Amino acid sequence: MSESYLVQVAVEAPQHSALSGPLTYRATHSWPAGSVVQVPLGRRVVCGIVWGAVPEAAAGEGAGLALRDVHSGLAGLPPLGDAWRALVQFAAGYYQRGLGEVALAALPPELRKLDDKQLALRLRRAQSMSAVPQGGEPELPPLTPEQQAALDGVDEGGVSLLHGSTGSGKTEVYLRLVARTLAAGRQALVLVPEINLTPQLEARFSARFPGRRIVSLHSGLTPAQRLKHWLAAHLGWADIVLGTRMAVLTPLPRLGLVVVDEEHDPSYKSQEGARYSARDLAVYRGKLEQAAVVLGSATPSLESWYHAQRGRYRRLAMPTRIGGAALPTVRLIDMNHVPREVARTSALSPALLAALEARLERGEQALVLLNRRGYAPVLHCPDCGWKSGCAHCSAWRVFHRVDRTLRCHHCGATERVPRACPECGNLDIEPVGRGTERLEEQLALALPGARIARIDADTTRRKGSLETQLAHVHAGEVDVLVGTQMLAKGHDFRRVTLVAAINPDAALFSSDFRAGERLFALLMQAAGRAGRDAARGSASEMLVQTWHPTHPLYQALRSHDYPSFAARTLEERQMAGMPPHAHLALVRAEARTQEAAQAWLQAASDLAESLPERASVTLYPPVPTAIARVANVERAQMLVECEARPALQRFLAQWVPALHGLRGEHKGLLRWAVDVDPLAI
Ligand code: ADP
Ligand code: ZN
Ligand code: ZN
Repeated sequence: MSESYLVQVAVEAPQHSALSGPLTYRATHSWPAGSVVQVPLGRRVVCGIVWGAVPEAAAGEGAGLALRDVHSGLAGLPPLGDAWRALVQFAAGYYQRGLGEVALAALPPELRKLDDKQLALRLRRAQSMSAVPQGGEPELPPLTPEQQAALDGVDEGGVSLLHGSTGSGKTEVYLRLVARTLAAGRQALVLVPEINLTPQLEARFSARFPGRRIVSLHSGLTPAQRLKHWLAAHLGWADIVLGTRMAVLTPLPRLGLVVVDEEHDPSYKSQEGARYSARDLAVYRGKLEQAAVVLGSATPSLESWYHAQRGRYRRLAMPTRIGGAALPTVRLIDMNHVPREVARTSALSPALLAALEARLERGEQALVLLNRRGYAPVLHCPDCGWKSGCAHCSAWRVFHRVDRTLRCHHCGATERVPRACPECGNLDIEPVGRGTERLEEQLALALPGARIARIDADTTRRKGSLETQLAHVHAGEVDVLVGTQMLAKGHDFRRVTLVAAINPDAALFSSDFRAGERLFALLMQAAGRAGRDAARGSASEMLVQTWHPTHPLYQALRSHDYPSFAARTLEERQMAGMPPHAHLALVRAEARTQEAAQAWLQAASDLAESLPERASVTLYPPVPTAIARVANVERAQMLVECEARPALQRFLAQWVPALHGLRGEHKGLLRWAVDVDPLAI
């Protein structure tokens, strides 16, 4: 009789199956932990990851059971290491998802389709990937004293928060840290929030590290590229991995440094599946693998700021811009003083127009931000009151003039703009409010001869179109750039001396407790786009059109004073019992009717009553989400709040597995999910 082994394999099981841990299989080969294998599951053969051998004692018990056999496996792939498995295990537990789900989602999809022969070919390709060509030694700019102090201050065995103004040279600090890491024979992982920022970053890293292999990992790669880059990282061939959120789970055998640039950015939090925070996982990963973690931002998340204040993270400050360029002067334009008629018809106050004209005369560029794409957020019939609602969502359809459509930004439903009011036949239906298209039109009317360009999700849909448009801006072929927050991030616009925010007030009164924090970060970042060239820096300005100029958020913005904004906001959070002073989880349910969604949540709440940890959490009543209906599905949510993270984790570990049993009694329920540390509530 041939020898047989018992192994535990993490497989991807549908979330509702309540299967969260690995399954036991029989194998004729002692697959080491971390091996990628194919196993039968129900009637299918699925990809799995060997999680460990079954302990001797348990193996005896399993002898009588009808265990199924491991089909095959990738013998040519080095096993995924202990640290990687520990990271995945932590993520699955913390975010309350199946182990196999999290583990397999972290693999490149192409890998699952391969057999050993195909893998061998892919490995050869990955290994032959060229390194950055050896050139002359790159010239290193001498560090400023602040940069040097930051570099020396990085906590090699812990987490550092690099709080550096926009343009203070944080990237140069990252480059030096990476150089140090490579010199020690280790790999560096550098995370950025946006895929759009990776080409720029790749170019800088390539120029700095001749002879090194640099790979990127983000959702814009082809499946074959993603596999190749992943293999190069996993086999230790790549020295530097640049990537977005998803890259945090890349196996790296020699990891020595993790950089999270713009660590406050909401896109580090996944909005599907395990809904993990790549920043938080990076911190955990650093601890697991004894790698230094550096979180960089001009406006740190309040969580990170709080940790730094309490000494958990080491705080490094770089307040000064390179070359001594001043941060732009922030001017608040009080819209209460703008004549009613002007404010009603135009997005542009006289003060803003004058500032734009001055830039045009001097041949400088301006950036005008409005966080709403399309022409107008809604069409309206003044006769009967009809509005362009979406038939499938509790939201308006947005009027896009360019292609004369009404589009729902939630479900995507699109139709041609009606000629007349669908209710009463009135021919004069009007756009209400404004989006970037309309703003572009108003700017063109107000500034004849100016070269105006618009950059938002609509104008950059095609691959490469953002790069092309940005190249025009850099080449000086654009005078006024109109766009959404997409423009505020990261781009190094050398000739921009004016940044204007048209009407950012809505966030001041949002029901979302983080809206203010996001707005402040966005405006600080946007301001950072201006005056990056020291020669023009002194004349650079940021204009904010607001109806609430005395609001403390704007006052802190005026003095570029993040610490005072943070102190005030942390105090408010403490009084309100909100993060980082409390810890949250959100349970979301989707159903055919709002009643069914809420009934399921209520049942979940009732079920919690019998749990031992119930007393340590506050469960709020179920409520509809801010946009309750999307694509004909009703959504509701319930907030769980707790003072201490470990207690919340213990409660969720008791509660969430039990919720799988609730499903049968709730016919209208479509889906439910838990979001741990939600960004928005
Ligand atoms: P941040 O990421 O903090 O906004 P960057 O790293 O983009 O800032 O730096 C801003 C500019 O300053 C870049 O053009 C960069 O090349 C330049 N720079 C950074 N450090 C130095 C230095 N020590 N000496 C000269 N120029 C520098
Ligand atoms: Zn009408
Ligand atoms: Zn819709």
